Amino acid sequence: LPRLPIFEAIANHDLKRNAVVHNPSGRTFTYGELAHDVADAIEELKIKAQGKSLDGERVAFLVENGYDYIVTFLSIIANNAIAVPLCTTHPNYELRYIIDQCEAFMLLSSEKFQEKAQDVMKEGTVTKPIIAVEKILEGSKSAERVELLDVKMDQSGLMLYTSGTTSRPKGVLLPESALTAQSRSLLKAWKYSSKDRLLHVLPLHHIHGVVNALLTPLFAGSTIEFMFPFKANDVWDRLAAPFLPKSSAPESLKQPITFFTVVPTIYSLLLSTHPSLSPELQEATRKAISPENLRVNISGSAALPTPTKAAWTNLANGNVLLERYGMTEVGMALSCGLDYRDRVDGSVGWPLPGVEARLVDSDTNQIIKTGEEFDADGKERYGEIQLRGATVFKEYFRNPEATAKDFVEGEDGHGRWFKTGDVAVRRPVEGVSSSQDWAKGPMYFIQGRKSADILKTGGEKVSALEVEREMLSLPEVSECAVVGLPSDKWGQKVVAVVVLSEKGRTAGKEGKQWSPLDMRRALKANLANYKIPQDMKVVQSIPRNAMGKINKKDLVKTVYGDAGS
Ligand code: ATP
Ligand code: MG
Repeated sequence: LPRLPIFEAIANHDLKRNAVVHNPSGRTFTYGELAHDVADAIEELKIKAQGKSLDGERVAFLVENGYDYIVTFLSIIANNAIAVPLCTTHPNYELRYIIDQCEAFMLLSSEKFQEKAQDVMKEGTVTKPIIAVEKILEGSKSAERVELLDVKMDQSGLMLYTSGTTSRPKGVLLPESALTAQSRSLLKAWKYSSKDRLLHVLPLHHIHGVVNALLTPLFAGSTIEFMFPFKANDVWDRLAAPFLPKSSAPESLKQPITFFTVVPTIYSLLLSTHPSLSPELQEATRKAISPENLRVNISGSAALPTPTKAAWTNLANGNVLLERYGMTEVGMALSCGLDYRDRVDGSVGWPLPGVEARLVDSDTNQIIKTGEEFDADGKERYGEIQLRGATVFKEYFRNPEATAKDFVEGEDGHGRWFKTGDVAVRRPVEGVSSSQDWAKGPMYFIQGRKSADILKTGGEKVSALEVEREMLSLPEVSECAVVGLPSDKWGQKVVAVVVLSEKGRTAGKEGKQWSPLDMRRALKANLANYKIPQDMKVVQSIPRNAMGKINKKDLVKTVYGDAGS
């Protein structure tokens, strides 16, 4: 294998350890098998390229979550090429958009998706990449020793598309060096180890699923157990298996899970299904997610509602969720610490090791230095999060305008800053342990996206995220999105789109539905008047994308029609 950090790490692991386990089959694959199969796949890919160089070429692939995905991904990187994982459930036109946008050199697919891959290629109009849809893997043998080769590797990497929450997904080019830096940062912060067993239930075309839950555990020599797509009851059954006196699960699926990293909606789904489990399962699952078994439980990709965090901690015998903040362009950027005292409600913690962060005042464009978090009127200053360091992406692929717009030159000559478009405040917090050397100083609290969540009403700034947090703390509210509607009088009018809880449906006067007036009254104690939504629309559900995020522009259009624009 080529001498890249990820392969050096694999070469040094115990090759007899399990790298991957498939759930529900229970099939296991060791690090030795992985090394052997990647070496084979590297050659296969070369043959498929028909003598053409793969250096820096984009190789798209449609492979289900599991061992084959890892082999495909690593063999592309090892060929000095750029891996472009595709979402296996996307409609064909979405896949086609990405294949065209990244100018794929070829498309690989596992057996299961060959027909889909053929269909996608038929619909092509712009480019005609070489098609190589055969399975690249045949039977596993194990390597006893991994030889590392010194070959030139300067163009390999990963291309991921943003979630498309605010506009069409953008192709984010992450060189191998950025991926490695991202993993190294997480290894330090969250201390993955070869003893960890990670349950993987996330899609594999987003940074969270690929870097946090796949590449980094491979660096550490952990075992990744794939269980996809996510189903709350199956996850509970799996978590419980090691703690049930009689479980019919195969031996390989009875190891306790020690590491779990998912999005807030997954925690809410787990929480809402838990009461319907049998008493025996309830007990076993609580044991499974208790601090002594589940070493790390992380939430991110969207804001974690405080009640979800509290309910999980309660169910898990004090195992507090660790919230972090990240994005496709930079991997993970801010995180709470491993000590429970460093997991403060509403905060995403501190800049991770190797990540340099600053807040730039959205009004004055000044850098908000430590100690300058409040303005002359004593109001908290909102600032855009800007980041730099080895973890940051190189460019939006074939989109120099977007790239130029999102970077700003540093005044100190130490490199350019990436403008995340997310706004935060920084607050000193008492009682944090700061037991990890990077987890020190004032903490970051995300206020939302500049484009959709920072509203301006009557001259005052309102963070939609802050209001949502308060609303979600009310027992009448099950889900909610706070948005701004254009208003002649206010500039923007703050309104809430709400899914009522069971209680909310009868919490109004005389058992009627909870009303906008009830809502305003309930929020009075915790929010300044101008922040309280002037109106509330009750809906049956709020649509979210695969990562649990709400596209607010679309939501306003559906709920308010023309009044929203
Ligand atoms: P697009 O860029 O296409 O609009 P996207 O920004 O949703 O889509 P991602 O890169 O997957 O695509 O998501 C990153 C965004 O997710 C961040 O910019 C931030 O707004 C949000 N986010 C991530 N973690 C958190 C968190 N802990 N709290 C609040 N928001 C978060
Ligand atoms: Mg984005």
